Order: sequence, then structure tokens, then C-alpha cells
Amino acid sequence: MPEAPKEPQKATEYDYDLSEKNNKTLQFIEDVTTNAGQVQNRVLAEILSRNAHVEYLKRNGLNGHTDRETFKKIMPVVTYEDIQPDITRVANGDKSPILCSQPISEFLTSSGTSGGERKLMPTIEEELGRRSLLYSLLMPVISQFVPGLDKGKGMYFLFIKSEAKTPGGLVARPVLTSYYKSSHFKNRPYDPYTNYTSPNETILCLDSYQSMYSQMLCGLCQNKEVLRVGAVFASGFIRAIRFLEKHWTLLCKDIRTGTLSTQITDPSVREAVMKILKPDPKLADFIEAECSRESWQGIITRLWPNTKYVDVIVTGTMSQYIPTLDYYSNGLPLVCTMYASSECYFGVNLNPLCKTSEVSYTLIPTMAYFEFLPVHRNNGGINSISMPKSLNEKEQQELVDLVDVKVGQEYELVVTTYAGLYRYRVGDVLRVAGFKNDAPKFNFICRKNVVLSIDSDKTDEVELQNAVKNAVTHLMPFNAHLTEYTSYADTKTIPGHYVLYWELNIHGSTPIPPSVYEDCCLTIEESLNTVYRQNRVCESIGPLEIKIVEVGTFDKLMDYAISLGASINQYKTPRCVKFAPIVELLNSRVISSNFSPKCPKWTPGHKQWINMN
Ligand code: AMP
Repeated sequence: MPEAPKEPQKATEYDYDLSEKNNKTLQFIEDVTTNAGQVQNRVLAEILSRNAHVEYLKRNGLNGHTDRETFKKIMPVVTYEDIQPDITRVANGDKSPILCSQPISEFLTSSGTSGGERKLMPTIEEELGRRSLLYSLLMPVISQFVPGLDKGKGMYFLFIKSEAKTPGGLVARPVLTSYYKSSHFKNRPYDPYTNYTSPNETILCLDSYQSMYSQMLCGLCQNKEVLRVGAVFASGFIRAIRFLEKHWTLLCKDIRTGTLSTQITDPSVREAVMKILKPDPKLADFIEAECSRESWQGIITRLWPNTKYVDVIVTGTMSQYIPTLDYYSNGLPLVCTMYASSECYFGVNLNPLCKTSEVSYTLIPTMAYFEFLPVHRNNGGINSISMPKSLNEKEQQELVDLVDVKVGQEYELVVTTYAGLYRYRVGDVLRVAGFKNDAPKFNFICRKNVVLSIDSDKTDEVELQNAVKNAVTHLMPFNAHLTEYTSYADTKTIPGHYVLYWELNIHGSTPIPPSVYEDCCLTIEESLNTVYRQNRVCESIGPLEIKIVEVGTFDKLMDYAISLGASINQYKTPRCVKFAPIVELLNSRVISSNFSPKCPKWTPGHKQWINMN
């Protein structure tokens, strides 16, 4: 721990400024949550008056109205597929005001997909300001609970991904890539709260090995200064630890000698790292000793001894990583600070040291106009949500405003943004946990329909079904048929990977060689969406595995479900399993395990754009 000052120090001008700045931010949160209703009305009126003449609103007959009642009566609640023709026009170069009166500056490529491709979310220049504002709320909030965070650095593993151009010439890239490349991030004025161990150049390096290596090296060199560590999602942080496991000898060599590995070839990265890297044999010895110990339990607190918390999102599907994070960090608090998407940044966790199972996010009413569609779930099953594809008039009227949601009720989030989405269904299901003044706090429950996820990938049941359908064609020559299957996101391996359990009915006499199952694995991977394939290519997801199980295994699975109270008449094989005893049951009856022999194909951008650019 940093030494306590020997005698009381006078507050410097700088200290005073910081606490005043924090107080201002907290007051902002107080104000917008107290006046959430009025703020939401103002935001909606602002969006509608600015965009009164855009084609989409005129087409729907809004006629320049800016009031809530008319808006709710006239405008349809939509999904991506509904607005895709308009998005495609913008992507193809139509510059007329279709969705928004301000020019669309770029597309943000969501990890949610449509037809296997990333969804394209329009954005405008000023949205960067809104995103920056949300980020600026995080540190003043956590500083109320963890003092002294301005006295050291954050070690965050942050990465950019490749970008593509739409046929009309607009850039299409993930929202974080857009943010890190913007001047809001790159040219941020000095602020003790955005003082990171990773120089910008290491974050902005597209080569994932060089980026990770240099960020890890800089983090190790400044190990005593680090007060918090993190990544955006838990999976990314665990990948960094895994990287250290693989590469610590090389990293120690660099620290010992003060020279940078020749594998780091990017000149700007080399220059930035060399400003930090100095020969430090003592530190190299220390890291070597810690990393060569048999157990890696608590490696975070051992190598970065002043760390107070791990800043990663572990709500939603990322909760599968909590045990691994607890192990590596010796139970440091896991802090989920914010809830955001490509469509819009939504909200912050005002009680960041709470238990991970109790995390709730307060939506910030200035970010967008929010509405909520009540969700009624079957059997309490996380993924078995009865959600109509498109809503009838009555259902559209069921949408409630931010201030009118009820504690304990679950809702699907619907947003109207400054960048031209109107009553757009985000696809997330949230539950009201309570209120901060007039603004609700939400637990993140799940993303609609997603069955499998390891990193940013989100695979739904239909995609999985189609992929399996394509793969089983390899079994035909052997007169073998797939009788049942299910899947499991195995995060015990690093990186995690998809596992499919297959039960076969084999009539042919020729045994099926392992290479055929490997072909099946690869066909499934080739059939999955672009986000899955990209994660495979950059090794955030491991090779897909098919486990062939004994005949009768799925009957046993049904027996087990019925013993737990499922109804025989209504029993359906779950297409994804999570419950540990069920996974154990399946694993106990595995005849053979087969892995995908190589990565599926992936290129940035939409398939359709390749010949158009
Ligand atoms: P993307 O559009 O690719 O940026 O992904 C946004 C989605 O990630 C959201 O709609 C959520 O489903 C998920 N997500 C973002 N933040 C969180 C969070 N704090 N907890 C759980 N899921 C989150």
C-alpha cells in the first residue's frame, strides 16, 4: 500500500479542484435522476424537433409533432430488420436526411447480428460527447467508496478492432474502436482518473499480439503504481492473464535488460514503450519468482500489490467468468461500472462495490429517450422468453416510460436516440431493482434469445440449429443421423469454446472417422455469424468441440429434468445447457471428442461489401 503521509498535508489547489469536480459530477447525477421525467420529455422533444423533417418521421406521419403522446401513438416500435432498408440506403451513400437531420458520421458495428452480419448502428459526431459524459461519471462515483484512486494508475487492457468501409464510404467499426480513435480519448487532458499504464499507441495498435504484449509490459513496469486493473468484459481480462502465463519469460527478459522484444515492430508502439521501459533486474526477478510458482492463485494481487479492485463487466453472460476472476485476484471486488451498447450508452452502477449478483445500472436520462416493454417469461427460463416478433397496437401501447416502471418487473429496453433510432428494441431484458430518486436502477437479466456466448459473440438458437443442419450433411455417407443435440459454453478452457453434444443413430457399417467429425466442427463454425468467426480468428474463442455421446444419453437427460419437476408432456431438449449436474451427466457419457481443425474464414465488413469497395 502507498505509505500514509507523515503529517497532515494541506489540500493542494489540484486536490481541491478534483473534489470539486467530483462533487459537480455527483450533483449532475442527483439532478438528472431527481428530474428524470422532465429530462426525458425534454430529450424526446429535442430529438423530434431537430429531426422533424427527416424522411423516416415524415413517412410515419409524425408531422412535426414533438410531444410524447403523439409520438407514442404514431411511431411503430421496431427491430433492426424493420429499419434495415433505411440503414442500407445510408450505407450505400444516400446522404439525404433519412433518419437524422445531422450527417451520419459513421456506423457502429454491433456484436448483435442480423443475417449473420454485424448490425450497423448509425451515429453522429456529437454522440461522442455523450459517451464521454457517461465515462466521466464513473470515477467520481467509485471514488466515494474507494478513496485515493487519483494517486496511482489504472491498468486496463483496451483494444481496437479492424474497420471496414460501407459501399457509400462510411467507416463501420465497433463503438470502442471509434471511441479510442477519437480525440475525446486520444487527446484527453491530463486527469488523474484517466491515467493508464498503457500508452495510447499500445491501445491503438491493430496487431493484437503487439498490443497485448506492450500493454502487459507497461503494466508490469509500473506495477507499484497500479491501483485498479480491468478490461471492458471479463473475458478480455482473463485473456490478458492467459497471455502473461504464456509470455512472462519474454516479458521478464525485456524488463531485465530494458530492451524491447524484436517481435514488437510497430514504430510508434516501440517509441511509446521505450519511454517507460528501463532495465530493472530486481523487478524482473520478482516477476519471474511469482510467475514460476506452481499456483497462479492471486497472481493479480501478487504482481500488482496495490490493486484495490478489478474493473470488468461480469453481468449477463460474463458471469460465467466470476470464479476464474476470484481465483486470480484472491477475491478482490469485481466492479461493473457501466451498461452501454453501440446504439447508445445507457447507464452507470451507482453502488459499484455491491455483490456481483446485485449489480444494477441507473439509466442516465440525458442519454436518450427510454421506453420499456413488459416481458413475460415462461417457466422462469432465462432464454425462453415469449417475445412477439413485431408488436400489435395494443402491445405498442403497453410500453412504459422510464419513471413509470415497476420494481421487480422485467422489461425489454426500447430507445429513441439522437442519432436516428426511433422506438428501437435493443434486445436486452432488464429487471427493476429499485430507484435512484426518480430514475430506475436495473439488473441486467439477459439478451433476448442468446444461447451461447464466450466473448462478444452472441449465438441464438436458430443460428445454432442452421449451423448444425449444415454440418450433419457430412454424416450422410455413413448413414448416420443426428437424433438429439445440445450445446454448452465451456469457459473452463482459456479461451472458452463452444461444445456440442451429439447423439447419433448410426445404420451404416463403416465407422465414422474422426476427420468427418472435424469437418462437422468446421462447418458449424463456418455457418456461425461474423462476430463468432472474428473472435475465433483473433483467438478470443477456442476451437469448437463436438462430443459424441452414448445412445440413450438424452433420455437420461429428460429423466433427470423430470426428476427435478419438469412436465413430461412439455419437455423439450434444451438447446443449451448451463446447470452443472446436467453438464456432468452429459460428460459422463462421452464416446469421443472432436475439435475444429482450423479457424473459420472471416473478413472485416459485410460479405456483400467486398466487391463494392
Ligand atoms: P454492442 O452493441 O456490441 O456494443 O453490445 C451491447 C450489448 O452488450 C448490450 O446490448 C448488452 O446486451 C451487452 N452489455 C453491455 N453492457 C453490459 C453490462 N454492463 N452487463 C451485461 N451486458 C452488457
